[in-house]
Amino acid sequence: MTRIRFGRSQAVPARLSARFAGLPCGAPTLTPGVCLPEGPYEGWDKALSTVTGVAELSGNERIAVVVGAGLAGAQCVLKLRQGGWRGRIVLVGEEPHAPYDRPPLSKDVLLGKADATTLDVDYDALGVELLLGRRATGLAPGTLHTDAGDLPYDALVIATGAVPRALPGAERAHLLHTLDDALALRALLRPGRRLVLVGAGWIGAEVATAARQAGCEVTVVEAGRAPLPGALPAEIGRAMAPWYAEAGIDLRCGVGVEAVEPGSVRLADGSHLPADEVVVGIGARPATGWLAGSGVELDASGAIVVDGRLRTGVPGVLAAGDCVSYPSARSGARLAVQHWDHALHSGGAAAAALLGEDAAPYDPVPYFWSEQFGRMVQYAGRHAEGDELLWRGSPEDGSWSVLWLRGGVPSALLAVDRPRDLAQGRKLIERGAALDPALAADPAVALKGATV
Ligand SMILES: Cc1cc2nc3c(=O)[nH]c(=O)nc-3n(C[C@H](O)[C@H](O)[C@H](O)COP(=O)(O)OP(=O)(O)OC[C@H]3O[C@@H](n4cnc5c(N)ncnc54)[C@H](O)[C@@H]3O)c2cc1C
Repeated sequence: MTRIRFGRSQAVPARLSARFAGLPCGAPTLTPGVCLPEGPYEGWDKALSTVTGVAELSGNERIAVVVGAGLAGAQCVLKLRQGGWRGRIVLVGEEPHAPYDRPPLSKDVLLGKADATTLDVDYDALGVELLLGRRATGLAPGTLHTDAGDLPYDALVIATGAVPRALPGAERAHLLHTLDDALALRALLRPGRRLVLVGAGWIGAEVATAARQAGCEVTVVEAGRAPLPGALPAEIGRAMAPWYAEAGIDLRCGVGVEAVEPGSVRLADGSHLPADEVVVGIGARPATGWLAGSGVELDASGAIVVDGRLRTGVPGVLAAGDCVSYPSARSGARLAVQHWDHALHSGGAAAAALLGEDAAPYDPVPYFWSEQFGRMVQYAGRHAEGDELLWRGSPEDGSWSVLWLRGGVPSALLAVDRPRDLAQGRKLIERGAALDPALAADPAVALKGATV
């Protein structure tokens, strides 16, 4: 079992196991009793009794089912047990593997530095039943339908994550989402192989990095004007474009892919790129198709609509991780975040809500990182159109940051090899501290020294 490296320079637990391992089910250290959540959902208790007929059961007999055995699901079951859930906890996942970490798939696994990234958690000691290789197919009140039969639940947390978007008609192209995808792709990255990557997003850049290190000839095709068109303004994406050339990668922006053909990729401008392998990295969509007809509300993108405590509109059903859209008062919008930090924290927050813990609404400062072309790129917060954009340093300097201000207060920060900016900026965003723009734009001034 591999020890997990969590996102660098972040205040997250060094190892899940350090906090949870060895907690036996029902151990005396656990909070006795199971609390039902408070909240606007009248009928929760009623739902438990009328639908499952178990309201009179003791806490030991209630069943919490968590569906989706990824990071959010794993963190949820751990927090549930730690928080005092004395009944059964069942974690259902369609992959054959115990929960594992995904960020290393496009980094250490592709680079051949790791073969497995299993989360270091002792489910037996926690009294968590793992049902792997089992896919949820539908939901009725009190019952999770799976491809291997029905599972009754008193409380359900949906953490089925997101799946990569495929290119229509490009069946022979590779996607990168699972450990098996990463191991299969790694085997194909050989010196001289011609790899075409569709999409210069976060994952595309990381796969390109690994493929070059393996000696492949790499071309990246991006329909937008610059890398990361969905995430960052073009002027910032353009500052990253030289990274591709420096790594010996042919980056083609502003041109779409028309078709993936045997041995080549046909572009919208009619040209052909020879390709031994094609990898598509054009984003992901929530893995929620199986909820059709369940009464769980989905937004237009397929994300599960939850409230500030991660509850769906269906009594007893919560959701966490890449598959949810939650209201963010901090951002003034609903957010659907598909990053590691959100999976970790929302998994824990869903457990806390289930246990009735009196927590503030779930609304952290979003955070993620990406390791590409030998650089650490980190982003915190959420920028919006109209925010003032300040550069701290120049891309020519090698390390630089970009800060977004809204009414003088930072709304987001992007840091390239400037982890201190990230750490300080994240706290300032959290606090809503106003900054002096001139000081904040000076890379020689610590960000925390730019407050007014
Ligand atoms: C290659 C890669 C690299 C990444 N790198 C970074 C990074 O550097 N930084 C960062 O912040 N984030 C990164 N991410 C994103 C991060 O890993 C995800 O945000 C996080 O894993 C989401 O966790 P989750 O538990 O919500 O969903 P997932 O990890 O997707 O887990 C959901 C699980 O549910 C299962 N499932 C789906 N449908 C069903 C069903 N019907 N029944 C049963 N099980 C089901 C899935 O098979 C999956 O195992 C990366 C993601 C990938 C794929």
